[in-house]
Amino acid sequence: MEIRQLEFLKHLLPCKRRVYLDHNATTNVSRRVRRRMNQVLKHAYGNPSSLYASGRKSAEIVRAARKQVADAIHADAQEIVFTGCATEANNAVLKSLSNFFYPRRKKIVSLPVEHPSVIQTLEFLKTQGIAVEYCPVDPWGRARLDELEKMIDGETFLVCCMLANNEIGTIQDVGAVVRIAARHGALVLSDCVQALGKIPVDVHSLGVDYATFSAHKLYGPKGVGALYVKQGSPFASFIHGGHQESGMRAGTESLHNIAGFGVACRDVNELLSRARRIRALKNRLIERLRAVRADCVILSPEDDGLPNTISVTFPRANNAELLAVLDRHGIAVSAASACSAQEDTPSHVLKAIGLSDQSAKETIRISLGCGTSRRDIGYAANVFKDFFNGKTLAIGLIAPARLDEAMLFDRETYILDVRPQFLRKNFKSLPNAHELSFVAVEKYLAQLPRDRHILVSCQHGNLSYILAYYLKSKGFARVSSLRNGIGGWKKEHGDLYQRYAGQNVTVLKPSK
Ligand code: PLP
Repeated sequence: MEIRQLEFLKHLLPCKRRVYLDHNATTNVSRRVRRRMNQVLKHAYGNPSSLYASGRKSAEIVRAARKQVADAIHADAQEIVFTGCATEANNAVLKSLSNFFYPRRKKIVSLPVEHPSVIQTLEFLKTQGIAVEYCPVDPWGRARLDELEKMIDGETFLVCCMLANNEIGTIQDVGAVVRIAARHGALVLSDCVQALGKIPVDVHSLGVDYATFSAHKLYGPKGVGALYVKQGSPFASFIHGGHQESGMRAGTESLHNIAGFGVACRDVNELLSRARRIRALKNRLIERLRAVRADCVILSPEDDGLPNTISVTFPRANNAELLAVLDRHGIAVSAASACSAQEDTPSHVLKAIGLSDQSAKETIRISLGCGTSRRDIGYAANVFKDFFNGKTLAIGLIAPARLDEAMLFDRETYILDVRPQFLRKNFKSLPNAHELSFVAVEKYLAQLPRDRHILVSCQHGNLSYILAYYLKSKGFARVSSLRNGIGGWKKEHGDLYQRYAGQNVTVLKPSK
């Protein structure tokens, strides 16, 4: 094979520069946290419940970390329960309280902009007889307190109000919500996951009954969360087993994760001291984005929102294309929250603040972190600029969920399957696909239509991504890659796969 035939391979080379701007999805583990976790993994393997020396040593590690978490949020150590993640902590509060109050009281009032770990749990609880009402929010996502006051009644046992929103960075007046709830005898759960490390969090002065936290949002490890339960507030374990965590959460403690979480919390004041610098970088990026696209709409509150979060709509931009271009340039941002990124459905938060489906799909979230530099911001701004000035190669990324019958049988779409022969055994091709092996693509360029949308597919979406960029570099106007490949599509649309896959497939032959 001539080397010329492998020209597409240059589209495989990853960009050397990496700019991570998705800190609301997760953060890197800090050096101090890593060091502590390694120490614990190496030297402390005793079960914290065991009574002999190594067990006592592990119990002491848990105790110290609990104090560090408590100090970071101005709570008492006995008010902290370690969990597997914040999702678990939110589930624990909602399910435990529903059990405790039902059927005496049946209602929970929540904001519609809460994280899915709250919203989806509430939707489940509805099926168990709990009445759930969502309080309207203003265009910045802030609870309408007058409406909230009207919604909470004698039936209401809980109000859910997050402190900081993960998608748009809005900070709620949780203190005011607590005062309203208290007038009606309702408890308050505040999801503080995005707040800790970005803004001061003082659970005692907020007055909430329950608050939830996650280590991986503040440079700690994934797989450990914390639940604050105000002394005297009702709570019963929803994971049954041993007597760990004072009977509030059974299961042997994840010692190294808990120790890492402790160190991450010990460093919270240092994180807070960087907030001003991060806000200045955020404002700089917003300025640069506005200079490139004067019509962009910043959805995040600029002065009193989280210092690191920018949610921005670029009217008429295809955010899947934009995200692909940013990714190709080593820049990580997300379409909405990481939790819904796979679904390709408009974000519930953006819908709640009044965006149309279309505008929601033109919106991306950029979230800065401690390691973000001025150079990173300059670099990212330039990539945005080149994209909007048409100077970058841009392909579309089609989510498997979006590839429905309408798109499959759209006469405008030319489906290209670039899997090598041996991989075709695993999955049948998409209906109406044109098959050619990726290694030979250069020989077939003349046969591919330049006036149609070319949808490139492969097994899992990697080859097609590279090939789509290659075709784009060869002047094909509209090229997309099927994200997660035919495997992902089959998982999403098993019924369509059964009905249509493998039908009307053309094997391309080299032109004479
Ligand atoms: N709550 C909010 C606001 C979040 O942003 C997240 C994570 O994205 C969670 C809860 C869930 O945290 P975890 O990943 O620890 O389950």
